[in-house]
Amino acid sequence: MADEASRPGAPGASAPRVFPAVGEELIAAVRTASPRRIVLQVPAGLVRDAHELAGRLREATGSPIVVASRPCFGACDPPTLDEAPRADLAIVLGHAPIPNALPSRATFFVEMRAAGGDAPALADAVRAAGVPRRLGVVASIQHLDLVAPLSAALAERGYEVHVGRGDRRLAYAGQALGCNYTGAEEVVGAVDAFLFVGTGRFHPLGLAWAVDRPVWSIDPLQGTLEPPIDRGSLVRRRQLLVASVRDARRWGVLVSTFSGQNRTPTALALQERARAHGREAEILLAERIDPRDLEGRSLDAYVNTACPRIALDDAESYPKPVLTPPEFLMALGELPLEPYRFDTYH
Ligand code: SF4
Repeated sequence: MADEASRPGAPGASAPRVFPAVGEELIAAVRTASPRRIVLQVPAGLVRDAHELAGRLREATGSPIVVASRPCFGACDPPTLDEAPRADLAIVLGHAPIPNALPSRATFFVEMRAAGGDAPALADAVRAAGVPRRLGVVASIQHLDLVAPLSAALAERGYEVHVGRGDRRLAYAGQALGCNYTGAEEVVGAVDAFLFVGTGRFHPLGLAWAVDRPVWSIDPLQGTLEPPIDRGSLVRRRQLLVASVRDARRWGVLVSTFSGQNRTPTALALQERARAHGREAEILLAERIDPRDLEGRSLDAYVNTACPRIALDDAESYPKPVLTPPEFLMALGELPLEPYRFDTYH
């Protein structure tokens, strides 16, 4: 077996580069890098376009390209060295890098920033809906460029807008990341509501778990404004789940080996807490956490240290209850049920 340092794409690769979209800048950078082989990875929402995109890049750069069949959930799970051992450059679409969890292979992140969004019209829609004036603004990476003009347009309409920087897991101020809303948490005391700029329910849900304020969301291209999700019922559902496993004796502690999802120290600390309370706790290691791998096990419940959204969004796919680490500490009686604590991945 080749030693790690001699493998293509082994640790020591240069810092990742970031591109707003698939375009000339990316193509020029790939040509300059002249990789021996590229692995292209796309999120599930772009799988349909992956092969056309690979063809375009292959033709424009002359570099061989393989497409990773596993879509990425985030910048936390780029193609591993085992998945694409011969590629010396990864191109990951749809995500910003996670500054404190950089991939070990040279990687170009293509953030797929969306142009457009009429800031004055969106600000008018926000005001017309009666959204509170002390407002925190958060955006998906695709619509982050709209935060500054929208904040200015809201300020012109009498709004006091707050945009938090967040911690070292976030690449940008105002950025929504499904496991880390520390930018919003930073300004929560100064605002009466949040406005999420982007599409879908993934981030409005995450924000609702993370911050105890109403979260409005606006689709910047359609101009449609969605009222806040009922945070109370979301939180109550989780608290009921926690209460249902208070007496569980045999726990599985889920750990992912993905570069940006591996919280082994947290898992070991939770295992220790479980044992201190007279419970059994087995660490289960996987690259990607898959509910099918948990079928038929003699365990009562799980605590998941990988992507925090697995427990919160995918609970129904799992054969047994899956808690987040703070919920697990609630179940052990080490944390109170209130205030509810989101599992922020720092
Ligand atoms: S850990 Fe989960 S929420 Fe965070 S970046 Fe990865 S997939 Fe997204």
